[in-house]
Amino acid sequence: MFMEGDVLYDNEDAGKMFRSFNLISQHFENQESDLHQHLFTKLPVAILVLKGDHYIIDATNDVNLAIWGKGPEVIGKPLLEIMPDFSEPNHLHILNDVYKKGQSFYFKELPITLTREGKLTTSYYTVEYQPLRDVDDNITGIVVAGFDVTSHVVDRQQLAKSEQKFKDMITHAPVSIAIYKGRNAVFEFVNEDYLKRVDKRYDELIGKPFFEVLPEFAGQGLEEIFEEVFTTGEPYYAKAFSASFTRYGKKANYYSNFVYYPIRNANKEVDGIMVILNDISDLVQSAKATEESEQRFRNLVMQSPVAMGFFKGQDLIVDMVNEAMLKMWQRTDAEVMGRRLVDIFPELKDQPFPALLNQVYETGKIYKDDEAITYVRTPTGELQEKYMQLQYLPLQGAYKQTTGILITINDITAQVRARKQVEENEQYFRKMADNVPVIIFLWKSDGYSIYKNRQWYEYTGASEEEAQGFSWLNYVDINSRPEVQQTLFNAIKNKTSLKVEFQLRRKDGKYRWFEKAVTPRFDNNGQIEGYIGTMSDIHERKLAEEQLKDAEERLRLAAEATGMATFDMDMQTYNIIYSPRLLEIFGYANTEDQNVMPRSKLFERIHPDDLAIAENAMNRAYQNGSYTYEARIIWADKSIHWIKVEGKIFYSPSNKPMRMIGMVEDITRRKQLEQHKDDFMGIVSHELKTPVTTLKVYTQLLQEQFKSVSDAIPGNMVHRMDSQINKLRLLIKDLLDTARIDTGTLQLDYQLFDLNKILNDVVEELSVTNHTHRIIKQSSQSFMIVGDAARTSQVVFNLISNAIKYSPNAQEVIINAQQKEKFVWCSIQDFGVGIIPDNLPNLFDKYFRINNKILGTYPGLGLGLFISAQIIRLQGGDIWAESEEGKGSTFWFSLPLANIHNE
Ligand code: ADP
Repeated sequence: MFMEGDVLYDNEDAGKMFRSFNLISQHFENQESDLHQHLFTKLPVAILVLKGDHYIIDATNDVNLAIWGKGPEVIGKPLLEIMPDFSEPNHLHILNDVYKKGQSFYFKELPITLTREGKLTTSYYTVEYQPLRDVDDNITGIVVAGFDVTSHVVDRQQLAKSEQKFKDMITHAPVSIAIYKGRNAVFEFVNEDYLKRVDKRYDELIGKPFFEVLPEFAGQGLEEIFEEVFTTGEPYYAKAFSASFTRYGKKANYYSNFVYYPIRNANKEVDGIMVILNDISDLVQSAKATEESEQRFRNLVMQSPVAMGFFKGQDLIVDMVNEAMLKMWQRTDAEVMGRRLVDIFPELKDQPFPALLNQVYETGKIYKDDEAITYVRTPTGELQEKYMQLQYLPLQGAYKQTTGILITINDITAQVRARKQVEENEQYFRKMADNVPVIIFLWKSDGYSIYKNRQWYEYTGASEEEAQGFSWLNYVDINSRPEVQQTLFNAIKNKTSLKVEFQLRRKDGKYRWFEKAVTPRFDNNGQIEGYIGTMSDIHERKLAEEQLKDAEERLRLAAEATGMATFDMDMQTYNIIYSPRLLEIFGYANTEDQNVMPRSKLFERIHPDDLAIAENAMNRAYQNGSYTYEARIIWADKSIHWIKVEGKIFYSPSNKPMRMIGMVEDITRRKQLEQHKDDFMGIVSHELKTPVTTLKVYTQLLQEQFKSVSDAIPGNMVHRMDSQINKLRLLIKDLLDTARIDTGTLQLDYQLFDLNKILNDVVEELSVTNHTHRIIKQSSQSFMIVGDAARTSQVVFNLISNAIKYSPNAQEVIINAQQKEKFVWCSIQDFGVGIIPDNLPNLFDKYFRINNKILGTYPGLGLGLFISAQIIRLQGGDIWAESEEGKGSTFWFSLPLANIHNE
């Protein structure tokens, strides 16, 4: 297996490509796995990672598996079990030296023979063995990277062969060749054919003057030819030259064609002659032999799958080019043959190649470039950028003089582009990562940090070297460092994700709260490839949470002091953290050790008739952040209790409801008292109704009687008495209505009526009695409604009266009505004292009056709005108010339109 191949240690140039590949792949090892995959599969490099002294195959790629002819099942198995070929002693020696001594090996063109599809096939690889080290620099395995260079080796071998063939051609050519040096023509070189021709051995001729060893030739005209070539310096051609000499013991006249070439020394003076001589008797045969030999060289070039061409002379005239070359050039044979390279490709003039070719021609030294950028114009005129692996091999003639150049070109544009794409993808990933507003980082599977985005450096002011490994811990607040470290090590040990919060030092020395979230990334085999994580600034949230905690604590203390229960509900999970008092209020035994329960556990105690109240309160809370309701609950023993719940939603900085903190109060006692009061009021108002009605009748009679009396005073008194009785009757009416509502006996008298008419009537009635405000009605459209006209009129009366009552300094009240889908919306707007937002939700409660130094002076029971709301809601509508303190209020009510509107 390991028969040959140069072993190079630390050869900078040779290992360059593999080292840079390793860097890229190390980098990607812990990044997006599709990039990683891309790199592993698209580059034609075989990768193999061995672990431990049994050389367990830890990772490899498709390229390598294809070479081995194996599948991914080899992962996790010992190398030598999978590839018995590799247990050959030389190879074992290498593995041991890498693993035990940490040596690196680099083999250029290592022949590897493997059984493939039943056949032994030898391929050549440039292979690098490198120890794999962990964080502590211990060797844990071996990384092998291999690149198939078979085609290079084969090409070169073929070229070497052809060069040899040229030499052989001269030595073995069926033409006589000799070189004579100096005026006396001393033999310097003779080929086999020549020796045969004169029937001498090599040593008999070399170093001796021509006429001394071959005296027979004297006087046959050769001396003159020698003389002429020496003096003129011109080659001499002879055709059918006849000479008489002994050959194989037989003296005869032999005929030959020959050329005498002058050979010049460094001073350009002729100091020798080369003779090439063709025996005419053997002419046909020898001509044929030469042709065949050349043909063989031609075939070699022509059949090569690699683009090749032979270019003759310093001008590089196309002598032969093979198919592959023509294809690459996108030219036909006829277009290029016999033409100069620079004429075919004028664009080459501005590129370095003509100079390089000239240099090869002049020096006779081979030139190679593994990744030359070339620009070639296609026949349609566009300039294409291509990456070429190229070789210029000078071919030398008999005098070691370059006669032409054999050019071999391999178009590697696709491979180079693929590699550049990988590099670009990496750039792209980095750019992307640098532009997100969180810190992003990558860890190896042992937690060693290998990458951080720009945000890290900007925040901490750390340098690149400082950012490697575990040094980020230095930026973590010293008090939480041990805990953070422990969480981290546990997560790595258990291969889980982790989330920790800590304060991180900024470059100005200030600390801010960060949340670090790290998740493992697994490869296809379920092995941890590494971790990806983020650190996000949660400083604002943390501060808000702390404030919340304080608020919560204060509330809890206050609530406990007054016998109320507190709760803290998570708005995502609806889990409730509660104080022990809450269980008491809801009638649960205090047996739980944990003070957390789901909201549903509280809801299941709510009286079925009151569930809607609680649900509605929650819906309102989602809109305005505050939660309040009163409802009945039923304990396990069937006893009924009243609770009052009040809460406030706390939002995240992104305005998401996070928690609700609130209190629950047992108001059973208060409700009982209210009930007594209601009962009492009901009885009193009922009992008052008859005597007051009687009083009213008598005052009317009295008024009649005093009409004719001349003294105005008694009449006036009776009149005032009557208006006070009217007020009293209204109060009693309100109280009776309230009693009816409480007992559910408020009856509505349904009929079809026009809201517009009612508005007109009430406005007219109030305009007579009120002289302070102008009541402006803006709409005049009819709105037909099925409902109780008298009760609706009562509502409108009440709302307009309130508008006048609570806007003593204003002059206007504006009434409007409009259609909203299947409802009519009616508004009563005033420009008076207004209502503070906190009071808006309770406005329609029974006996609700705003306690205010100024407002306290207005008379009333706080029942008008309560009754109005009941009337409107009984008719399927709704009532609500908008207000701004000091600027005025708008009261709205809606009622469903009769069907005729929708036709
Ligand atoms: P009252 O008999 O006290 O007017 P209501 O039920 O009609 O009872 O109103 C309840 C409370 O609502 C009032 O005491 C007042 O504080 C407030 N209120 C009602 N209407 C208005 C308004 N137009 N502007 C300001 N406050 C109002």
